[in-house]
Amino acid sequence: MHCPFCRHPDSRVIDSRTADDGLSIRRRRQCPECGRRFTTTETASLTVIKRSGVVEPFSREKVMSGVRKACQGRPVTEGDLAVLAQRVEESVRSSGIAQFDANEIGLAILPHLRELDEVAYLRFASVYQAFESLADFDAAIAELRAHPGGAAEAHEGETRGTGEHEARAHDHGRDAARASEE
Ligand SMILES: [Zn+2]
Repeated sequence: MHCPFCRHPDSRVIDSRTADDGLSIRRRRQCPECGRRFTTTETASLTVIKRSGVVEPFSREKVMSGVRKACQGRPVTEGDLAVLAQRVEESVRSSGIAQFDANEIGLAILPHLRELDEVAYLRFASVYQAFESLADFDAAIAELRAHPGGAAEAHEGETRGTGEHEARAHDHGRDAARASEE
């Protein structure tokens, strides 16, 4: 790793630590030439193939901006969106696959968004699952009612603790499909 200050072609690692989320390692380095210190972050590569065919790195910010539109007017904070994006990243990384279609990222968002806000979930699902008619909305709403992860809107749903969200964070289609294969 070149020193970003003097371009010296070598540097010494003086500290390494795994980030809290376990998804990256931060290394504190020192340049033996100029003595200045800098930090590098190491993550496993995770890429997304867009519909246009362009391949780009997975971005939590892009997850957040996609979900933010569906959350307009809903009681969802930027902090909620950041947590959701982190969980989406954890769930796609835990699949062990390094490259995804943009649509698969959309589908990975759904179970986490459902935990956060059911109205935003329906809006988002209507796009990513390509709802074509009211019947598709009816089916999605019937499914929400049959498996009430978050109770009814405006009742105790608003006050649920985050612990239950944690426990359900990985309870989504991809994991269920894998479990049934094994
Ligand atoms: Zn240097």
